[in-house]
Amino acid sequence: MAEFDVIIIGGGPGGYVCAIRCAQLGLKTAVVEGRDTLGGTCLNVGCIPSKALLNATHHLHEVHENFEKMGLMGAKPTVDWARMLGYKDDVIGQNTKGIEFLFKKNKVTWLKGWGSIPAAGQVKVGDEVHSAKNIVIATGSESSPLNGVTVDEKTVVTSTGALTLEKIPAKLVVIGAGVIGLEMGSVYARLGAEVTVVEYLDAITPGMDAEVAKSFQRILQKQGLKFILGAAVQGVDVSKKGAKVRYKLRKDDSEATLDADTVLVATGRRPFTAGLGLESLGVEMLPRGQVKTDAHFATNIKGLYAIGDAITGPMLAHKAEDEGMALAEILAGKAGHVNYGVIPGVIYTTPEVASVGKTEEQLKEEGRAYKVGKFSFMGNGRAKAVFQGEGFVKLLADKATDRILGAHIIGPAAGDLIHEVCVAMEFGASAQDLALTCHAHPTYSEAVREAALACGDGAIHA
Ligand SMILES: Cc1cc2nc3c(=O)[nH]c(=O)nc-3n(C[C@H](O)[C@H](O)[C@H](O)COP(=O)(O)OP(=O)(O)OC[C@H]3O[C@@H](n4cnc5c(N)ncnc54)[C@H](O)[C@@H]3O)c2cc1C
Repeated sequence: MAEFDVIIIGGGPGGYVCAIRCAQLGLKTAVVEGRDTLGGTCLNVGCIPSKALLNATHHLHEVHENFEKMGLMGAKPTVDWARMLGYKDDVIGQNTKGIEFLFKKNKVTWLKGWGSIPAAGQVKVGDEVHSAKNIVIATGSESSPLNGVTVDEKTVVTSTGALTLEKIPAKLVVIGAGVIGLEMGSVYARLGAEVTVVEYLDAITPGMDAEVAKSFQRILQKQGLKFILGAAVQGVDVSKKGAKVRYKLRKDDSEATLDADTVLVATGRRPFTAGLGLESLGVEMLPRGQVKTDAHFATNIKGLYAIGDAITGPMLAHKAEDEGMALAEILAGKAGHVNYGVIPGVIYTTPEVASVGKTEEQLKEEGRAYKVGKFSFMGNGRAKAVFQGEGFVKLLADKATDRILGAHIIGPAAGDLIHEVCVAMEFGASAQDLALTCHAHPTYSEAVREAALACGDGAIHA
């Protein structure tokens, strides 16, 4: 029986980052991971593989849609699906091995196997019981099931199955117009599939700034994705020929069906804590299955903590990482903190969509006086050069103080541009602070500055 300062259960972005920081702060640290590789959902079946496929198919789209416009002529590439999946697996391998290397470098012990907590201060892996002053639950999440739909990961798949389909479907139905559904829908649309997205709500990407969501839907439709909104899926019938998705329109209760070769169920994720033994330990849980924690990630059991997708908050890798780092600092006797008001969200389609802070809808609901600075990428020379003038940057600032309250970007590299606003918000900056900062020309970032200028006396290139 080995004794550790910290044992973390789960080697995803929350767990592995927490472990590395704990070790850097001098704590004897172990991570329990049941998968064959480290990195959790994110590196194995989430963020990284989906971005690899988005990257490959984005290039395909560029070749077919934009190369000739730039005078790049010649034979167009065809898709070797097996090789594309191979590229994706290679990217996964490089990243998961990278975490293994970081564990060795930082002297983090990997306890291989599935862990449980038989008693406070103890973690069981296989037949061995290890003791720890602190235990961290970082067990992440799994796809939520949908009533009437049985997933077989062949014809009816979750995002995990969608990353390893045997062949590119001719017809793909995506249930759920959230981030994962739209990213995977984009991948297959670019590969030539007829993609229909069925969504229960009347708009795509719930929670997103409504103006951005509308624009995003229009752009995706131009790219060939079809949307059926306000539709409740009743069930999926699978036969040898494929699948039939039955849905009911909420506005008039009329029923209809859609044929598909593959159905992707992307209706959200739920915390995964099965097999840990939390019930017999008496760990308090929230109604939606998350481990209940206080502001310092502590559960109601002394020495037991939880982070990442297993607790409340946005199910995002960087949120899990930040919690992992903050908790490590707390366990080492320092002050760890996560600013939940400044957590960016990104959708990696083309164009990318990114947001941070409040939406206009939230500010209206709070009754807060605000101003909007908006700038279209049509006025950005660099964006037009890459055929991505369609989106915009929208900056929201307090009407009286000019303090930045939120930003919503749809356009090229939005997922990178958003961080300029994140840093500004962390420092309590005003829109004028951004507007007075010199931005290199020609960059996409100039659009952020122009939106900031639009919060004041006006943008220059609008
Ligand atoms: C298709 C897809 C795309 C995504 N894209 C993005 C993106 O672009 N950006 C983003 O920020 N987020 C993205 N996410 C979400 C992101 O993957 C999660 O928010 C993130 O992985 C959560 O990290 P975590 O450490 O809390 O848990 P996880 O990454 O889920 O890791 C938990 C780990 O714990 C292990 N585990 C569970 N129970 C036990 C046990 N009892 N014993 C041992 N090991 C155990 C699991 O095997 C798993 O490896 C995506 C998710 C999916 C599914």
